[in-house]
Amino acid sequence: MRLSRYFLPVLKENPAEAQIVSHRLMLRAGMIKQQAAGIYSWLPLGFKVLKRIEQIVHEEQIRAGHIPLLMPTLQPADLWRESGRYDDYGQEMLRIKDRHDRDMLYGPTNEEMITDIFRAHVSSYKDLPLTLYHIQWKFRDEVRPRFGVMRGREFYMKDGYNFDLTKEDALHAYNRHMVSYLRTYERMGLTAIPMRAASGPIGGDNTHEFLVLAQTGESEVFYDAKVPELKLGKRDVDYDDRAQVASICEEFTTLYARTDETHDESVFNQIPEERRCVGRGIEVGQIFYFGTKYSESMGATVVTPDGTRVPVEMGSHGIGVSRLLGALIEANHDDKGIIWPEGVTPFHVGIVNLKQGDAGTDAACTGLYKALVAKGLDPLYDDRDERAGAKFATMDLIGLPWRITVGPRGLANGVVELTSRRTGESEEMSAEAAVDRIV
Ligand code: ATP
Ligand code: MG
Ligand code: MG
Ligand code: MG
Repeated sequence: MRLSRYFLPVLKENPAEAQIVSHRLMLRAGMIKQQAAGIYSWLPLGFKVLKRIEQIVHEEQIRAGHIPLLMPTLQPADLWRESGRYDDYGQEMLRIKDRHDRDMLYGPTNEEMITDIFRAHVSSYKDLPLTLYHIQWKFRDEVRPRFGVMRGREFYMKDGYNFDLTKEDALHAYNRHMVSYLRTYERMGLTAIPMRAASGPIGGDNTHEFLVLAQTGESEVFYDAKVPELKLGKRDVDYDDRAQVASICEEFTTLYARTDETHDESVFNQIPEERRCVGRGIEVGQIFYFGTKYSESMGATVVTPDGTRVPVEMGSHGIGVSRLLGALIEANHDDKGIIWPEGVTPFHVGIVNLKQGDAGTDAACTGLYKALVAKGLDPLYDDRDERAGAKFATMDLIGLPWRITVGPRGLANGVVELTSRRTGESEEMSAEAAVDRIV
């Protein structure tokens, strides 16, 4: 993409309404525009990152054997009357009437609808196990929408639902979700710690939240200093291997890590003092096992091998896809702007032409651009007629991991400059070598 043809409405001034750095940087980098409290348009740069995050979430869910589908944003109230949640859910639910005076709602989550799909089409244990998920907009009329996309009212969420015959099978599904979530966050360059949590309005007794450590997080967290060091890394996971999946979960959940809701001072105090950490975290996902809560109330049953009918065992599992943009920026920025991890960056590399209009630098930039594209990379070429300082400031603000600077002086010596956004280190090398270095 050539910057002169792109739509990147960066702001020079710090927007007054933004209280935290990720919100400020998303507005300044022209990623989002607020349309109403907690409701945003996703401008091209923000949209690109949202799609990259979504893609990673899809890939890891499919790898775990989970099946994508798409449910609507609007739901009939009657489904929620069946589960009893239409009245229970309270003011966070946006209730709507259609022209026939039918009660509808903008879905805050989809347990009822997925259970309705299941009961319409599945009736035998032979069709189990089954895990269906979607990535769809949700609406929750939050009392205090704030921090930009971190606590929006309209937000993008991955929510998945497992259907199993036995509790044991459903707990394997729970473990599969935990491992696939760990992989998902790691691929984005994030450390998200599974913490024992309280279940809230979804119900059920087995639940973990995934928290990214950040001073601006809304949850207070208590954990063993060894927990953030745990990494899944490149190990091979066979999602059908129950023992392997369970042992990874054990590895990640045995050490103390809890939110304020489940914190237990006496257990915490058993950790050696120097390892006791208290901090704040951003909830970027949560997994639940809740058994037959919805299948019983909504009549989602299957015939067992011995011919009896039982309500199906279920769980639900969510990732805050749009919130992740905020969490990623909270964890990856400096005074100059965002520093995207390579896994989610909107463009892989920026090309800065120091002398736009000069035949030599223009040709070198175009050549670089083509070579990068040929390598399957997505470069952003700043071909505007601007001062070098302004071009550098824009690149630093939008946070691409690499910048290649091309100027007449370097070209005379056969070199361009490759700069890492994270370390700030620059190195001169040939254009070919620079292309080789970018992955
Ligand atoms: P919170 O405690 O922050 O209100 P939640 O526990 O109500 O979140 P869940 O029902 O667990 O949310 O939804 C799954 C995920 O969706 C959350 O872990 C979070 O990442 C994301 N999410 C929830 N509410 C919002 C929101 N208002 N804006 C953006 N993302 C959200
Ligand atoms: Mg909430
Ligand atoms: Mg929560
Ligand atoms: Mg939650």
